Amino acid sequence: MIPLDVAKVRVLRDCHPLPVTEVTLAEADGLVLAESVAAQEDIPPFDNTAMDGFAVVAADTAGATEGAPARLSIAGTIAAGAVAPRPLQAGEAMRIMTGAPMPDGADAVIMVELTTVEGDDVLARAEVPVGNHVRTAGDDVKAGVEVLSAGSPLSAGHLGVLASLGRQRVEVHRRPRVGVISTGDELVEGPQRLEPGQIRDSNRHTLLALVGRVGCEAVDLGLVRDDEDLIEKGLRDAASTCDAVITSGGVSMGDFDYVKAVLSRIADMDWMQVAIKPAKPLAFGTLEGIPVFGLPGNPVSSMVSFELFARPGLRQMMGHPQPERQTFWAVAAEGLPRRPDGKTHFGRVRAQMGADGRLELRSAGGQGSHQLTAMADSDALALLPDGDGVQPGDEVEVILLDHLHRA
Ligand code: AMP
Ligand code: MG
Repeated sequence: MIPLDVAKVRVLRDCHPLPVTEVTLAEADGLVLAESVAAQEDIPPFDNTAMDGFAVVAADTAGATEGAPARLSIAGTIAAGAVAPRPLQAGEAMRIMTGAPMPDGADAVIMVELTTVEGDDVLARAEVPVGNHVRTAGDDVKAGVEVLSAGSPLSAGHLGVLASLGRQRVEVHRRPRVGVISTGDELVEGPQRLEPGQIRDSNRHTLLALVGRVGCEAVDLGLVRDDEDLIEKGLRDAASTCDAVITSGGVSMGDFDYVKAVLSRIADMDWMQVAIKPAKPLAFGTLEGIPVFGLPGNPVSSMVSFELFARPGLRQMMGHPQPERQTFWAVAAEGLPRRPDGKTHFGRVRAQMGADGRLELRSAGGQGSHQLTAMADSDALALLPDGDGVQPGDEVEVILLDHLHRA
């Protein structure tokens, strides 16, 4: 068996960032920026009000209270998108709406809730300091500064920043197309009655969703029988149409592990036994230059193997400077037992905030590598070092998963 880190290094060695391409903002969500973006102009571009109210000269409100308001004459209205008809004079106020530019001469805004209109006048019922509720030009971004650097993953807020800078297209690493193949003569699909020995293919659906979740384009390459010619054809088609391919099943020590036979012949593979449970067997290498992840067939193993190896590999292909997930420390709220076997175990757990604000872990259910329901319902993997497991109250390192759609 080899250590987890050694297997990861092997995978990352052959997962290279894809070429840079230009995409629209609509296409850029989840991709990694491949250029430095500097601001050509200030954001916001002009001094404006953060409140609906009246633009005033702060000194005119000196000493104003509910009982003794300051009387100012209303000199106009400024809507968002408009500009003041003329500068403000001392003793005047202009109605102003959130986002509208400050008129020349004004240096503060009093919010509408603190004013009372009387005919052509407004009563300011409080004193406001200079700069009150004024958002100055460049308060968010100053012209000339680098706003986003190459290697930044783009998400919702960044797309907004790019749009506010006037960008419609950006340079990113191309989104990888990732083919997913299931293999195994026992596998069928759909609702029909199972013949003796048959099970339904679950891995492909799981892996396609996980691939999509990473931000890659998931390509369903179907279910392939345990037949060398069909497997070779499936793999070669994948290599010619995709940037990476993920198989599940057929890579362990069984007699009919044809994926292993075929990949050994046509690809440059390493067959690894990683000191982890689940997901000990891992095949990884390149076929016609593209990474091939041969994940184990057991449903939990294939998910854990995806998380530990394929996810970082694919993220590196997307250009992420940090392809691996951060780990966190949590506390076992119950015992998480295991047996010594020279491996690190990845326990499927539920993580919840405890009363003392610490993250508490509880088993998500059956821990067999075939027991997919517990994995499906787990929001973290607990790293259980070799030994007898952890006791209630022990600190545990965890990988927080993001495959659940829970809030
Ligand atoms: P293998 O790696 O081919 O020896 O398969 C290991 C276990 O995973 C066996 O019990 C297979 O039936 C099961 N398995 C393999 N592929 C799939 C799949 N796509 N969906 C569900 N179970 C699978
Ligand atoms: Mg098989």
